[in-house]
Amino acid sequence: AKLQGFGTTIFAEMSALATATDSVNLGQGFPDTDGPREVLDAAIGAINSGLNQYPPGLGLPVLRQAIADHQQRFYGLTYDVDTEVLVTAGATEALAGALLGLLDTGDEVVLFEPMYDSYQACIALAGAVAKPVTLRPPAYGFDVDELRAAITPKTKLILVNTPHNPTGKVLDRAELQLIADLAVEHDLIVLTDEVYEHLVFDGIDHVPLATLPGMRDRVLSISSGGKTFNTTGWKIGWLCGPPELVTAAKTAKQFLTYVNGGPFQVGIARGLAMDESFFHGVAANLQARRDQLMPGLEAAGFLVYPTQGTYFVTVDIRPVRADGDGMAFCRELPHRCGVVAIPNEVFYMNRHEGRHLVRFAFCKRPEVIDQAVERLQRLAG
Ligand code: PMP
Ligand code: GLN
Repeated sequence: AKLQGFGTTIFAEMSALATATDSVNLGQGFPDTDGPREVLDAAIGAINSGLNQYPPGLGLPVLRQAIADHQQRFYGLTYDVDTEVLVTAGATEALAGALLGLLDTGDEVVLFEPMYDSYQACIALAGAVAKPVTLRPPAYGFDVDELRAAITPKTKLILVNTPHNPTGKVLDRAELQLIADLAVEHDLIVLTDEVYEHLVFDGIDHVPLATLPGMRDRVLSISSGGKTFNTTGWKIGWLCGPPELVTAAKTAKQFLTYVNGGPFQVGIARGLAMDESFFHGVAANLQARRDQLMPGLEAAGFLVYPTQGTYFVTVDIRPVRADGDGMAFCRELPHRCGVVAIPNEVFYMNRHEGRHLVRFAFCKRPEVIDQAVERLQRLAG
């Protein structure tokens, strides 16, 4: 009963459709090139050196140290590798562990919609209740009074995703401060999903909420190696925070997978230690892909919203489809012109808010984006 209505994820449905119709898949967010050779070789080396049994429950020490060093190097945050860092099966399991470990039946979680699809499902599994605050285009900011109104005596935590999937919104320091102030005022935990932390454009900085004054000890920060190192299939994620929050997440996590991906943990540890120039290069390359896709979407007739980070850009389809039915549009698109996208309504609890919005991924090779753009021009004709 808890999972009534969750069905099959849209990513599975749309990637299967892409395969069946031989379409260009700009739906599910995954890159179509490999990440750095050093990262791949480190994992291969780990397999060849016999590191093929269960890693420790918290994750391999080499990776926990690399995560702590990364938080220190990029954000000036200090975490104890034995009590404040936990390796997980992707950010998805970090989210699941944190939500299952921290929430009791009837607790409320304040979050923003649109939202990554696993949030609602994990909150439901925990027997808790999601209370969405809607972000609206083009700026996708939030109304602080709406946020305040969503908080009740039952609220246990606020869940924040920045850089944001699917909108590409990057919350700035002032917006994060508003969230932090409410968390302090109501004594709430904040869970941050920062998987796109290095994928920000136009010189914008990603600000982890944990760096705001007084916030470090009420924030559980989640990230993953999948996006930064083009290794989404490896499913190596992590969370960092004060010991009591990490312990709660760990207690649930140990009964989900217990552990995963030993050799891949070595690979991601190598990645996290790469030079600054690598991280800048990843963002610059994606920014160029964004700037290649967006004019093509405009030429195809869509109203295209700005995106400051992530793999994704959102469009309003109403100029090319007057009824604004994004779900129907995405189910037809592969048959009409051989391109797959994701209907944003699946990211909303108030589905009508996202009915006319569609997400395209630009984490693809230039020639693949060119091909998609060329195919999409059939819509304008
Ligand atoms: N959060 C967001 C916002 C995401 O887009 C993703 C990507 N799939 C995840 C979490 C899950 O990351 P992972 O693949 O590391 O589980
Ligand atoms: N995070 C990716 C996206 O939003 C895919 C995740 C998944 O397939 N579950 O496209």
